[in-house]
Amino acid sequence: AELYGIRNWGAGYFNLNQSGEITVEVKNDAGELHAVSLLDIAHGATERGLGMPLLVRFENLLDAQIGRINNSFRSAIESSGYNNVFRGVFPIKVNQQCQVIEEIARAGRQFGHGLEAGSKAELIAALSILDNTDALIVCNGYKDEEFINLGLQAQRLGVQVFFVVETPSEVDTIIHCAQREQVEPNIGVRIKLASKVGGYWNATSGDRSIFGLGSNDLIAMVDKLRDQNMLHCLKLLHYHLGSQVPNIRDIRTGVLEACRYYADLVEEGAAMGYLDLGGGLAVDYDGSKTNYTHSKNYSLDEYCVDVVEAIMGTLDSEGVEHPVIITESGRATVAYSSVLLFNILDTTSFEPIELEEDSIGEDTHPMLKNLQDALQSVTPKNLQESYNDGLYYRDEIRALYLHGQVSLRDRALAENLFLQCAQRIRKLLNEVDQVPVDLQALPEVLSDIYYANVSVFQSLPDIWAIDQLFPLVPVHRLDEAPTRSAIIADITCDCDGKIDRFIDRQDVRKTLPLHPLKDGEEYILGTFLVGAYQETLGDLHNLFGDTNVVSVRIDDDGQVDYSREIHGDSIADVLSYVEYSPQDLFERFRKLAERAVKEKRITAQQRKDILHTYTASMSGYTYFEK
Ligand code: PLP
Repeated sequence: AELYGIRNWGAGYFNLNQSGEITVEVKNDAGELHAVSLLDIAHGATERGLGMPLLVRFENLLDAQIGRINNSFRSAIESSGYNNVFRGVFPIKVNQQCQVIEEIARAGRQFGHGLEAGSKAELIAALSILDNTDALIVCNGYKDEEFINLGLQAQRLGVQVFFVVETPSEVDTIIHCAQREQVEPNIGVRIKLASKVGGYWNATSGDRSIFGLGSNDLIAMVDKLRDQNMLHCLKLLHYHLGSQVPNIRDIRTGVLEACRYYADLVEEGAAMGYLDLGGGLAVDYDGSKTNYTHSKNYSLDEYCVDVVEAIMGTLDSEGVEHPVIITESGRATVAYSSVLLFNILDTTSFEPIELEEDSIGEDTHPMLKNLQDALQSVTPKNLQESYNDGLYYRDEIRALYLHGQVSLRDRALAENLFLQCAQRIRKLLNEVDQVPVDLQALPEVLSDIYYANVSVFQSLPDIWAIDQLFPLVPVHRLDEAPTRSAIIADITCDCDGKIDRFIDRQDVRKTLPLHPLKDGEEYILGTFLVGAYQETLGDLHNLFGDTNVVSVRIDDDGQVDYSREIHGDSIADVLSYVEYSPQDLFERFRKLAERAVKEKRITAQQRKDILHTYTASMSGYTYFEK
């Protein structure tokens, strides 16, 4: 657990049991703690026909995070004497899956937790699933008349829909639709804050952010609404600093700046009443509790207290009533609830093979003898020199091979001697005070490659696209020391389909400690905290489709209920996504087989078997199956 930092990033949800397996820990209403092994869940799913790779969604963890966020705001509000309430909204774009949104709506009911919709499709989903008129629906993004009309009609049904104006021209559309439909809209406005934040996802803050109104546009909007007698419809101020804001100082600065705008809009005569801070509440992916990009230097409680106090501090001094506080936390709400499990198919190591006594004899090429001398002379004092020699002779032999002057066996011998030399040097690196710069990457260069039954592009797109780090850990055998050091290659045949950066509390690790594979036993790794953004951003690279998914609920007695399951895409599914018709493909293949029968290359009976193989593949999983 220490080596992989499980307790640092696990947020109290993940732990280790005595058999060396990672567990998910949940408390029931009576306060009893139940720990369930992820390996047991994986086996249970496989027995039910949902093999690896498998995305496991823990409903309990989603419920728990919604509870933590709401309760934390409640206690910050109570302890500081804040005179209004918190109303969270979950941004659907962070995980649009129906099961997830339904669970959020269900668990959020008692807190009036609503949804944020950034498109017409998301609004339609929100309107049908959020069966709770206490909760808010905040509409961000570009909105056409259809979008606005739908929201206005929903308002007639008692749903609290807010339209957040993102661009100056949107105000006219909202005014026009509202006057035509005779419905008073709830208007919000997104402002561009000057405050810029640290972290990866910060392009939504600062003067050059693409969304939101600057102060001139804001004044123009207020004047327009006043002209139309609609200033009382302007109720909400929204900003979004960017996702995964690691530094609490940036959060506080954003709130303070927004409150200045809020107070001035009240002063202008707008109704106001709602302050929407957007997303940004970070997840501590590496467990370092720092302001590093993949971490955060604040707890949830600190976040809530700081937000509440910053709002009070600014608005009290202006004599402005406290607004309803809205946040659009996505990542922090769903990240913990999904774990992606996958098995390792094979490994490659860069270990030399044992040499025969007489591999190097009298008539061996002199270059090979030189290479052997370089190997034998390695000591902690001459690491760099020995490495240079080894590399030089190995490259010379490669060149001789190209010119046909040494045999394939000589070349293989040279590669092997060089590997012995490099491995010997690598082992001695720990014994020297200062590792020469050229040798610093040797441990990575010599690390193993573990081939994983997963597509980074489909299931972990942020690793490939933006170098995001997630905790990646074997879910079992953690009572054994991991003796190998490896990077992960995925099942696509793309050189970008790899994971070679791993979390570390101090820095980024270039290799991951792993266990050697055991014959006849699966080795299963889990990528944790993947509930946010990964699922729908993934793509069909190499036509690897959606993975199997199970939703799991750990009941009050600690029993695992496989509450929902979705079988991953079949080959027919992914082919049809790229416009092939599976029937048409079958028909073409059938004709090929029929011709072979006619030409007497196969029998009719063989044709039947061949077509059966074809159709079985067509309906099979896109990943490696046992
Ligand atoms: N609100 C808006 C407008 C966003 O653009 C985003 C995502 O960047 C979010 C909320 C969610 O942010 P987070 O996942 O950091 O909570």
